[in-house]
Amino acid sequence: MTNIKEKVVIIMGASSGIGEATTKKLAGEGAKLVIAARREDRLKSLVESLPNAEISYAVADVTKQEEVQAVIDLAVKKYGRVDVLYNNAGVMPTAPLSATRFDEWRQMLDINIMGVLNGIAAVLPIMKKQQSGHIIATDSVAGHVVYPGSAVYCGTKFAVRAIMEGLRQEERENNLRSTIISPGLVDTELYTTVNDAENREWLKNNAKIAGVGLSPSDIADAVAYVISTPETVAVSEILIRPTKQLV
Ligand code: NDP
Repeated sequence: MTNIKEKVVIIMGASSGIGEATTKKLAGEGAKLVIAARREDRLKSLVESLPNAEISYAVADVTKQEEVQAVIDLAVKKYGRVDVLYNNAGVMPTAPLSATRFDEWRQMLDINIMGVLNGIAAVLPIMKKQQSGHIIATDSVAGHVVYPGSAVYCGTKFAVRAIMEGLRQEERENNLRSTIISPGLVDTELYTTVNDAENREWLKNNAKIAGVGLSPSDIADAVAYVISTPETVAVSEILIRPTKQLV
């Protein structure tokens, strides 16, 4: 794949699932990586599993603006620039609205939406100065369709889609690219963030056990593709489902 080698890429939410697979994929393509998430042990062992990669990690909670800024600053200090920011961190504690799980609603809004905004805010100044850069976010099929039990999660992913399109329109003259990757079911640890027993069981069965779900590496391939396109090409979205997924 062309155009990835030597690129400075920051991945938020890199400690498992899609972020971890993307880290491995881009490391293999020769990117210079700075990865972040909250679980330090997972980040550390991921870095150690890639001895030939140009990679460092930072512990950061995407809901904390100063921690996100510190990750961007680390990349700038190390490499003098940021080519790609991948805002991938997300949680999905889904439950029916009638369950009124206020804490989970706030957590989803904070991580899935504010996390993306914190990343954008932190990286825009350097990318505008560079007059180049690419911001990617993991959205979802849930950013296109609403289904029962997932109203708030879907709301966060609809919001991310709107924000990333707004970013594209506002920053295209600065030569900045905005892409959302919108997966269907992917076999990751995301179901562990679901506390509602019924929803959790459904997701576990469909994404993990029945073998319906995509592999995280399928999504990593899509991320690598959008990064590899020429600077004059802006892939706005890749919507990618397992072949057997209905919705
Ligand atoms: P995982 O649970 O495996 O990964 C989620 C990642 O987000 C982890 O690295 C986790 O790290 C990180 N994260 C969560 N909260 C925070 C936080 N506050 N600050 C920093 N990092 C955080 O699930 P996936 O790989 O599936 O999820 C990745 C993205 O893909 C999410 O945005 C999700 O909504 C989206 N998605 C997933 C689908 C699926 O079917 N799996 C389908 C469509 C979209 P840590 O806990 O260490 O902080």
